[in-house]
Amino acid sequence: MPRKKTAAPRKPAVAVIGAGIGGIAAAVRLAARGHKVTVFEAQSTFGGKMHQLELPGGYRFDGGPSLFTLPQLVDELFQLAGRDPKDYFRYERLDPITQYFFADNTRLTAWADEAEFAAEVEEKLGVPAAGVLEFLRRNARAYEGTADTFLRKSLHKLSTYTSPEVVKALAVLPTLGLASTMHQRHAASFPDARLVQLFDRFATYNGSDPYQAPATLSLIPHLEHGIGAFYPEGGIYSIAESLVKLAQELGVEFRYNEPVEEILTAGGHVTGLRTAQDVYDFGVVVSNMDVVPTYRHLLPKLPAPERTLAQPRSSSALIFYWGIGAEFPEMGVHNIFFSGDYRREFEAIFQGQTVADDVTVYVNITSKKTPTDAPAGHENWFVMVNVPHDQGQDWPALITHTRAAVLRRLQQALGQDVAPLIRAEQVWDPPGIARQTSSFGGALYGSSSNNMLAAFLRHPNFSRKLDGLYFCGGSVHPGGGIPLCLLSAAIVADLVPA
Ligand code: FAD
Repeated sequence: MPRKKTAAPRKPAVAVIGAGIGGIAAAVRLAARGHKVTVFEAQSTFGGKMHQLELPGGYRFDGGPSLFTLPQLVDELFQLAGRDPKDYFRYERLDPITQYFFADNTRLTAWADEAEFAAEVEEKLGVPAAGVLEFLRRNARAYEGTADTFLRKSLHKLSTYTSPEVVKALAVLPTLGLASTMHQRHAASFPDARLVQLFDRFATYNGSDPYQAPATLSLIPHLEHGIGAFYPEGGIYSIAESLVKLAQELGVEFRYNEPVEEILTAGGHVTGLRTAQDVYDFGVVVSNMDVVPTYRHLLPKLPAPERTLAQPRSSSALIFYWGIGAEFPEMGVHNIFFSGDYRREFEAIFQGQTVADDVTVYVNITSKKTPTDAPAGHENWFVMVNVPHDQGQDWPALITHTRAAVLRRLQQALGQDVAPLIRAEQVWDPPGIARQTSSFGGALYGSSSNNMLAAFLRHPNFSRKLDGLYFCGGSVHPGGGIPLCLLSAAIVADLVPA
């Protein structure tokens, strides 16, 4: 007798709140697993912090992130959908990675090859190459031993702590100097204050303070120096653009200009959402909105995890987008102009909630790689200074103060006044970042990593109170930055029942 066919149970429909890089990646992963996915985005387009903008005169800019590491996490999304990543997204390894300009006018090039970089450090800073290489190798071992546990899994599930990777992670943890800060580790490793400053800088990759952040964060340089820094063809925005194309091919629906106003619940379970346009039924909701406003605005009746939400915020940024009417051959794609007093700069940000007089300036110039980003003979300068998150400071006054400090620092390093070369200008400040992306206080990376327990105090990728509610993006585990947002989406996809 023919057996009666039973229909496979339908997978729950998924809503993703926000088309930031984490939300797009979660949508791709869940659609590839057979869920019907709808992405609700408050803005008129995708990308969130990873947006692009154009200024009059023919200048294009990546609006937010500029440094790209771990491109395999993007490739992985195309591969799991059965596509060849190269048909959608291409990138090259950057060499050199960064041009460093120190306050004493020393210049140093960070070459992609570790041995070449170490030789440059020996030549320019007088620090033996062997010590630099040993430091980088130790970071590599620490990264390889801990990444699977701390970045690829939820830290808030018991199963994580019974996995074999934990044994590996526990074995390498002491080599990271558990009781010291990043700065202490670097100062103990190198006799030259400039090299200490160079490695301390990596604390800013997740909006933290090297004088407070644990030494464990000093494995961040391994991502750039060991695995590599990459430049996507067409700029960083092409990451979001290519993934949205993939998502649409997988049937994901994007609803722009439709901010979610409430997550609907019944009996401890998510049932859907409400926007100004309609009410929708969903069995699963993934919030890519910053976790603080998700609780405050979309779930006002649910008791919020106050201790988690009260964690200190990461730093924010002041960005000056400048169309520059000249070319600077001594600069590359990534350029750092260090201040003369790094400690005072971080004290101003994290204790003073303000901006120092002497600031470190980061300049990203994509027209070095993508010439169409600026007219011939011109460059597109993305000029960024780390600043505190918004707590009601007088931002117009801080912008004036910081712009003058930036111009002073650039003139000192380049021997030329850049101000008369600025042909087009736009500014993005912390309140603007908060308005445009809903990030609490305009913090770039959610909560800071300024203490040992920060990783464990970040919000989990799931709700402990509501079945069917998940979280991805820079404000939750494992943290901010493109690679970690992509990993948050992978963790969410693994947590959503198949
Ligand atoms: P977000 O980009 O925060 O986007 C969230 C989305 O949700 C937004 O589109 C928003 O409109 C939408 N949304 C919010 N509320 C609602 C709602 N109620 N309904 C519907 N939609 C909603 N990272 C790096 O790796 N390298 C870098 O060099 C780097 N530099 C940076 C420089 C700057 C200036 C900035 C701003 C960030 C930088 N970052 C960098 C950090 C990186 O950009 C972020 O960590 C990452 O892009 C955040 O992605 P996300 O998934 O958290 O979403």
